[in-house]
Amino acid sequence: MYYQPEIETMPVDELRALQLTRMRESMRNAYENVPLFRERFDAAGVSPDDLESLEDLARFPFVVKQDMRDAYPFGMFARENKDVARIHASSGTTGQATVVGHTASDLANWGDCFARGIAMVGGSEDSTIQVSYGYGLFTGGLGAHAGGEAMGCTVIPTSSGNTKRQVQMMKDCKTDILACTPSYALLIADTAIEMGYDPATEFPISAVICGAEPASQNMKDEIAEKLGVQYCDVYGLSEIMGPGVAMECKERGGIHVAEDQFYCEIVDPETLEVLPDGEWGELVITTLVRECCPLIRYRTRDVTRIISEPCACGRTHRKIDYLRGRTDDMLIIRGVNVFPSQIEQVITEFPEIATQYQIILSNKGPLDRVELQVETVPEFPIDEVRKIEDLKSRLGAELKSNLQVAVEIKIVEPKTIERSMGKAKRVIDLREAKN
Ligand SMILES: [Zn+2]
Repeated sequence: MYYQPEIETMPVDELRALQLTRMRESMRNAYENVPLFRERFDAAGVSPDDLESLEDLARFPFVVKQDMRDAYPFGMFARENKDVARIHASSGTTGQATVVGHTASDLANWGDCFARGIAMVGGSEDSTIQVSYGYGLFTGGLGAHAGGEAMGCTVIPTSSGNTKRQVQMMKDCKTDILACTPSYALLIADTAIEMGYDPATEFPISAVICGAEPASQNMKDEIAEKLGVQYCDVYGLSEIMGPGVAMECKERGGIHVAEDQFYCEIVDPETLEVLPDGEWGELVITTLVRECCPLIRYRTRDVTRIISEPCACGRTHRKIDYLRGRTDDMLIIRGVNVFPSQIEQVITEFPEIATQYQIILSNKGPLDRVELQVETVPEFPIDEVRKIEDLKSRLGAELKSNLQVAVEIKIVEPKTIERSMGKAKRVIDLREAKN
């Protein structure tokens, strides 16, 4: 079912016309009220009046996260303090924090976006949603909470932490929908099992709505299986709004963007040219209805593609594909874009191989050489040459078909690859710079 059927199933030509009208308004709001946009547009020789079609958006300059950091705290606000209902802020672990303001209307729109996802997993005003995302400056908790309230659900604001109590609440209060990060959903599932329950059969839970961190397909399947639920992927970012920019329906195969509120472009991360639907590149988002912090052509650094084929669920809003990673992580190998996450996905399909791996890039003449070092699991008979050769050839074939790049494989003994206490160093690039 739908939460806002007239919007979610709007005929495509009407939807594009609505986007154009709203994009003009959003651009005017940005141009008239945020000095950064006025300066950038003037410097590029464009004004909101130049927007005659959605394609004209490509003539406008981009904004990036650093612009928001530089504008800290309120430089990107298009509204005065009296109209700002709430502010959220990013953690600032990788630099100056960014602050994003929301008017009452912005918060209501946010709730609507998330509530559409609740409908996608079969939720309604009869549902009980347990919000185990952290509450606070982080947008997860309050974003999911707003969605539950907009739908008219019973909302249980457990926030994150105290996992045994989470499990007890889920069971006793008959939670239908759990909203949290994928890693926390898995921990809750495992904790329930450790406590002697089988949540898949004993708990009434029927769906999880998970986002805010990357998760492989295998991890999503594991969560869905252990809890016996439909898995719904939610995409969002605090600079744009929070969770709910896009949400996954039960047909899977991508995440529906709330296209009445956001306009997406995919650009080539090198040339910044707009790419046609279906091609992979960097996601660029323009907000269409945000009052306090309108963003025109915000570069998300997330790599995905737009899926424009109609969806069997009846929603006309286009989907984005599951994220491949971030442009910061992208490797260009013999002209092909490769993400460590793609290699990781292939590795997880081989039970003989442990999760530790390292990618070593070097030059062999004019060509890039890629070596993937993987460890076998302790049970694997590493001294049996035929078994090693067989594993190498199967892994090599699978990587070649997934990445379109040949990878040399080196299989090493368990616990050979260096462990790190922090973020694992997965890629070692020894290539000399080409001129
Ligand atoms: Zn759909």
